Amino acid sequence: MTRLMLSESEGYDLLREYGVPVPAYRIVMTPFDAADAAEAIGFPVVMKIISPQIVHKSDAGGVIVGIGSREAAEAAFDRIIKSAKDYDKDAEITGVIVEQQAEPGLELIIGGKTDPAFGKVITFGMGGTLVELMKDVTLRILPLDEETIRQMIREINGYPLIQGYRGAKPRDEEALVNALLAIHRFFLERDDVVEFDINPLRLYENGSLAVDARVITTDEKVSRVEEEQNPVPMEYFNPRSIAVIGASQDSSKMGYAVLHNLLHFPGQLYPVNNKRSEIQGLKAYPNITAIPAPVDLAVITVPAMQVPRVIEECGQKHVPMAVIITAGFKEMGEEGKALEDRVKEIARRHGTRIIGPNCLGMIIPTRGIDTTYVHQSPNPGNIAFISQSGAIINTVVDWSLANGIGFSNVISVGNQADLTFLDYLRYVEKDEKTKAIILYIEEISDGKAFMDVVSEVAKTKPVVAIKSGSSRKGQAAAASHTGSLSGSYEVYMEAFRRSGVIAVHTLTGAFLAARMLSHPKGYPRGKRAVVVTNAGGFSVLSSDYAERYGVEIIDLPKEVIEELNGFLPEFWNKGNPIDLLGDATERRFEKTFEVLARHQDLWDMAFIIGFPNLVLSSDHLAKRILKFSESTENRILVTLLGGDSMDAGREILKEQNIPSFEELDFTFRVMGRVLWQKYRVRAPGLL
Ligand code: ADP
Ligand code: MG
Repeated sequence: MTRLMLSESEGYDLLREYGVPVPAYRIVMTPFDAADAAEAIGFPVVMKIISPQIVHKSDAGGVIVGIGSREAAEAAFDRIIKSAKDYDKDAEITGVIVEQQAEPGLELIIGGKTDPAFGKVITFGMGGTLVELMKDVTLRILPLDEETIRQMIREINGYPLIQGYRGAKPRDEEALVNALLAIHRFFLERDDVVEFDINPLRLYENGSLAVDARVITTDEKVSRVEEEQNPVPMEYFNPRSIAVIGASQDSSKMGYAVLHNLLHFPGQLYPVNNKRSEIQGLKAYPNITAIPAPVDLAVITVPAMQVPRVIEECGQKHVPMAVIITAGFKEMGEEGKALEDRVKEIARRHGTRIIGPNCLGMIIPTRGIDTTYVHQSPNPGNIAFISQSGAIINTVVDWSLANGIGFSNVISVGNQADLTFLDYLRYVEKDEKTKAIILYIEEISDGKAFMDVVSEVAKTKPVVAIKSGSSRKGQAAAASHTGSLSGSYEVYMEAFRRSGVIAVHTLTGAFLAARMLSHPKGYPRGKRAVVVTNAGGFSVLSSDYAERYGVEIIDLPKEVIEELNGFLPEFWNKGNPIDLLGDATERRFEKTFEVLARHQDLWDMAFIIGFPNLVLSSDHLAKRILKFSESTENRILVTLLGGDSMDAGREILKEQNIPSFEELDFTFRVMGRVLWQKYRVRAPGLL
């Protein structure tokens, strides 16, 4: 693929074609022509170097502004050429552009890039030479509509500067909308354009003007047609018989652990091993074709070189699906990829579907299926966990046992040679046991298809995702502002938000969010909150957290305060957070809940924060909270602070599916992420 940077003038021409205002310009090759051109355009003018090798012209001393006379233009020409040669003696200089000098204005950046997974994205934000420093940009995946463009404009921190900050006149927001619309259309329609930067676009009280245009084109045709495979039938995940190929009696082998974890499988289990006739108490077969009954699922642990042969045999046996645990494929480079392609081809020829390779396979606790080699199988529950990392599955399963969390499905996707995230998402969407879905994602190959599928799934079941790779380290250096401002992580975050996926940063956060959203009440209707607590210090903290994570603590109207005055101690704080004071009994909580329930239109969620003491037991408080939750459509979020003494209350709430947290910051942070996803609430703590 060759990437070609267009000259500024070519960029201007393209933009003008789409209706973006650009300065008048001329290209010159001599000082004399420069003076003529400047005169024709009208003083003052700006002159800039034109060279395919010089990307940042100012850095090369290649931009001179404020040229006011013929003499100055001639001198500027010589100076620009000299600076450019000093900067890079091999740079090919194709001329100098003389352009109309734009009035000072608010400098904005509009850029575009092509993300390997999600395709074209547009970024918008505060521009000028400090863009990388300010990092005040927002981005969207194409295509966009006008409302989204307006939203982008309102979303940046610098928006007040557009509205007219501190007595300044407002800027022409409509002109900006039109410029963005035109640039969007330009990027959408031009298949050859892969990246561009307009920095700056100057915005005025009237109109706008693009005074730099860097456009990068390619001659590569971007058509990546993945053959669409048929959807995987649900029953493939409910096998009646399983064969373990490479099953072993040697406890140091993977084939041992895998068979061992499957010993609870209630259906038929067949070890396959050509050296032994009995393994772990089960009759073993020399190969899969020797098994005298149908096999619904093959689990393969033999060395990579043998996998093509084994898959061939599975095909002959009409095995519908195989889990290839074995590593040593695509993840190992060219040779491994060739081997994986061979396996894929054989499987496809026979119609055998593949999970993996290089994975742990799946755990479906209610069906006694566990093809992994985790230490101990997890408990049944309602969360589906789909992960691109096997190590994380091991960790999460271990942790879930200690934390009373259960799973409907745990799936390790591996190299996704055949079945991908999309297939697993479609499966857990239909799976009745699954109430919430957690994804651990390293990389997605077809981002658009992912968005299509996951946004469907997220309509009926909450989807929470952890995406690894947010650090800048290791990411390729970018050639444009846009490239460096919006890395692929930001694109993923935007894709998640667009698709209704809640992005979180930690495993704990993922499970808390999944639990919060798997409640039948689902999302809160908005971001307005009330806080009720018996812990004064935490009422202040909760205001801090609320602000940090974008939760709005409402002001209580007079009539609510008066109702509360009726039974609260005289010196209560008369505000929200509602501090019931350290001597609050369950009765005081209950009466407060009753008042709030009567005024439930005022708020969308209630944070109840309790700490243990002698006048309030956690189980009594929990029961009042349950009653409160039943009396309102709004979401109730509980934080029971303290140690073991709160366990009884936590247990009661858990049984009724009311999420209770042990750390107040988490409660607000998780809700903040939900609000960000759902309502685009921006908050300092969510960046
Ligand atoms: P670079 O390649 O360094 O980004 P630019 O073309 O953006 O070069 O020029 C650098 C700066 O000079 C711009 O950020 C802008 O402030 C100013 N500038 C460039 N062109 C003009 C113009 N036509 N009118 C007024 N100022 C300009
Ligand atoms: Mg520039």
